Amino acid sequence: MTISDRQITPDSVLTDRPHGLIIDGKTVPAASGKTFATLNPATGREIAQLAEGSSEDVDRAVAAARRAFEGPWSKWTPTQRQALLIRVAGLLADRFDEFAMIETLDMGAPLSRTKMLKEPIRQMIMFFAAQALNVKGETLQNSLPLNIQSMTIKAPVGVVAGIIPWNGPLISQWWVLGGVLATGCTAVMKPAEDASLSVLRMVDLLHEAGMPEGVVNVVTGYGAVTGEALARHPGVDRIAFTGSTVTGRRIIEASTVGMKKLQLELGGKSPDIVFADADMDKAVPGAAMGVFTNSGQVCYAGTRLFVQRSIQEEFVERLKQFTASVKVGNGLDPDVQLGPLISQKQLDRVMGYVESAPGEGARLAVGGERLGGDLAEGYFVKPTVFADVTNSMRIAQEEIFGPVISVIPFDEAEDALRMANDIDYGLGGAVWTRDVSTMYRMINGIRTGTLWVNCYGAVDPAVGFGGIKNSGYGVKGGAEHLDLYTYRKAVYINI
Ligand code: NAD
Repeated sequence: MTISDRQITPDSVLTDRPHGLIIDGKTVPAASGKTFATLNPATGREIAQLAEGSSEDVDRAVAAARRAFEGPWSKWTPTQRQALLIRVAGLLADRFDEFAMIETLDMGAPLSRTKMLKEPIRQMIMFFAAQALNVKGETLQNSLPLNIQSMTIKAPVGVVAGIIPWNGPLISQWWVLGGVLATGCTAVMKPAEDASLSVLRMVDLLHEAGMPEGVVNVVTGYGAVTGEALARHPGVDRIAFTGSTVTGRRIIEASTVGMKKLQLELGGKSPDIVFADADMDKAVPGAAMGVFTNSGQVCYAGTRLFVQRSIQEEFVERLKQFTASVKVGNGLDPDVQLGPLISQKQLDRVMGYVESAPGEGARLAVGGERLGGDLAEGYFVKPTVFADVTNSMRIAQEEIFGPVISVIPFDEAEDALRMANDIDYGLGGAVWTRDVSTMYRMINGIRTGTLWVNCYGAVDPAVGFGGIKNSGYGVKGGAEHLDLYTYRKAVYINI
């Protein structure tokens, strides 16, 4: 029976296969035999035991990735790698209901959202399939005295460590897998301990599509042990990391072993600026869902909502009404728009900010509490709006990673710009206005890697996405994406 023949139920997707590490194409236990529990955040109950990888397991996975890099995979042509990616895109689209269910159970996002990822992920894989034919060097003129021809080659870099977070593993793993498979690299993936299941299942699908064993390996386990061992490993050539700024700093330190080049996509505290002339019917839901999507667990969430003072009261009132209408609950319910936070730890963190904000002078407009009743065992918090926030308050400066909006009033465009840039992060940002000169002033003035105008959160792999300041460096997507997965080799030929 293939996966597509089965009925997709919570039980079927979880009990179908054993969960272990994936090394050299085989599912194997951790060398220590240790496992740890992963929970469904909507219920707080265990859904699977995962292998707790150690540095010994990381050694095995990196060795497998190195063997695969030097094995038959190195002879695959760009068109063969492209064909593999196209097969994967098709298979994944056929099986997407299963992956959507796994993601919902593992990290809580509602099925209504995880199912919607089918087309964006298919398009992303097709983008990387096109990139497989786009790895190119140059021939260059030179001024050397001999008859020497010169050129550059873009060669695959080798073994890539893909260390990813829990807030959207279904999509974030593809930012790594796409570059790896397009260029002929190999990978050791380290998913987050709170949400590893879709990464494990994806490797099954890659093998089914014809990917050679050992090209993508997975080590599950804790960040401080398994992740750290992988980031420090001398057999790893490059690191693609998505996660918090704190961990990003540790990754930079670890990368000094072997001088590994990095792509770091880190935290954010993005400004979203609403001018008095904005189309309120679009700006209210746009700004609200620019924070509440995925229960606020989105790196580029526009949590610092600057609203021009003349419309603040009306805007906050409409935001309250919109927020109160958002349905929060167990993601298996098809009507639910927002699921739980990922863990008790994250719930405590978010509630800590919510409870301390009034003490700093913020006014709670709506939300601000956990959900009870049937949902009391899960990690649910009501979407929350604070008004009268100032830019120096903790809720305006620190990444909360929950469904919490801070409305900060401003008078003039210059005030909005100054406050928007007065932050250690530089990931996303947005502006809502109908005035073209205001729009350009903001586009030129806001210091973030990504900026939206009259919309929020649109990301296309061909355009790319990245941050500055404490939000990291390196770009996901766009022409630069493959720079992490290749290196430039200069060649001089004496004719
Ligand atoms: P995290 O930094 O705690 O963990 C991310 C990954 O790193 C996990 O796999 C974890 O196990 C691993 N890790 C932890 N410590 C490690 C160490 N010492 N060495 C190596 N690996 C280690 O982040 P998180 O809590 O899983 O995710 C939330 C954070 O990710 C937020 O700050 C969010 O803004 C950020 N994020 C950023 C983007 C982006 O594109 N910029 C996207 C999603 C999430």
